[in-house]
Amino acid sequence: MSEGSGIPQRNGRTHHPVLIIGGGNAGISLAARLKRYKVKGIAVVDPSEQHLYQPFFSHIAGGTAKAETAVRSQESVMPKGITWHRDSATAIDPTAKTVTLASGTILTYEHLVVCPGIQKNWDGIPGLQAAYDSPFGATNYSLDLAVKAWRLLSDLRSGTAVFTMPDGPITCGGAAQKPMYLACDYWRSQGVLGNIRVILAVPTKTVYGVDVVDEELNRKIAEYGIELRCTTELVRVNADNRRATLRDTTRGAEEEIQYDVLHAAPPQSAPDWIRTTGLADDDGFVAVDKKTLRHLAYPTVWSLGDAAGTPNSKSGAALRQQTNVLAKNLRAVLKGSQPSQKYNGYGACPFTVSRSTVVLAEFDDTRTPKPSVPGWKGLAKEKRLTWLVERYGFIRLYWYAILKGRA
Ligand SMILES: Cc1cc2nc3c(=O)[nH]c(=O)nc-3n(C[C@H](O)[C@H](O)[C@H](O)COP(=O)(O)OP(=O)(O)OC[C@H]3O[C@@H](n4cnc5c(N)ncnc54)[C@H](O)[C@@H]3O)c2cc1C
Repeated sequence: MSEGSGIPQRNGRTHHPVLIIGGGNAGISLAARLKRYKVKGIAVVDPSEQHLYQPFFSHIAGGTAKAETAVRSQESVMPKGITWHRDSATAIDPTAKTVTLASGTILTYEHLVVCPGIQKNWDGIPGLQAAYDSPFGATNYSLDLAVKAWRLLSDLRSGTAVFTMPDGPITCGGAAQKPMYLACDYWRSQGVLGNIRVILAVPTKTVYGVDVVDEELNRKIAEYGIELRCTTELVRVNADNRRATLRDTTRGAEEEIQYDVLHAAPPQSAPDWIRTTGLADDDGFVAVDKKTLRHLAYPTVWSLGDAAGTPNSKSGAALRQQTNVLAKNLRAVLKGSQPSQKYNGYGACPFTVSRSTVVLAEFDDTRTPKPSVPGWKGLAKEKRLTWLVERYGFIRLYWYAILKGRA
């Protein structure tokens, strides 16, 4: 534990007025914002010594950024004056208002914010873990495998590359496609795109599910000659023979594809342990009101980010608004008022459709377009400007403003 001196004890247990589980995008930006609001006694529980800017994993897998740009030490981003428990939460008792850590330490709290992110199920498809362990499988959903992805994609000169997105909850679902467009643009620049069969399998009825964005993505898919399979999932991999089985979920038909590179986003779910806390919804995520982000049954529990049971697209873009809403609502409750701020379901996904352009999908929790300039759908068109903002602007915004509770 750092910043530990002077922490009050209750019944021999360390007590925090505000305890945050998870020091990722959600936890650190919320802690920083609450600190700016002069809230006292904030603590964060997180075992990780590294803080990762996950949106850059797509650039790393697509060869447009280096791995080190996405990593900082957790210590360097932890706001000063916040107590950091370098440990994992393993259990919550929302009635007794306690959190148990992996070390056995039990913390007590006044208000608890649960934001440990989403769980990646690396072996959630038969043969998938073996594919990642083989020389031909990768994904942008982990830093190491993103580095490997660019090695495999940039080395490919001919053959078949298969990109897949799983069904079910996922963080930034569009990310499953981004390295594909970056690789296609690279292969085109090398004069080898015509030698490579590129297959994209998505579980959805259309390529992304937001009309104006689908139009742009379909145009790029045609331009690169990608074979798009909608309502299609990866159901099995034989890593030894490099065979991926895709199933069309509407017809039930299966197709076995011999691949040279398999880029598969892993299935994802709520962290398993949340189910045992009594705080979960039917899908295992934290059951909060989708507007106030306060728990539906326990008013001293809150959630935001990928672990929250809200219907928006899970993304850092959603979090920017959620952090603001939750911090203001919690501040109000701490002052004895009612929470009045409401999250509007906004989410966004920047599709890197080439190595110099982006299509920015902005939409709400019904997948209705929600452009940041109301009425203007321009950002959902392929643009160089959005590439510059996404590749060079957002990452600075993240390290220097979002994690400081200022954006
Ligand atoms: C490949 C990829 C590309 C993406 N691209 C974009 C994009 O372009 N735009 C965008 O807006 N969003 C993007 N996202 C989504 C964005 O990164 C997430 O929505 C965001 O990081 C969620 O923040 P979070 O704090 O909820 O979870 P995370 O940032 O994942 O943080 C969770 C934290 O909780 C900690 N933790 C886990 N379990 C425990 C426990 N039991 N006890 C204590 N701590 C725990 C972890 O160590 C971690 O630090 C992308 C994500 C990925 C993976």
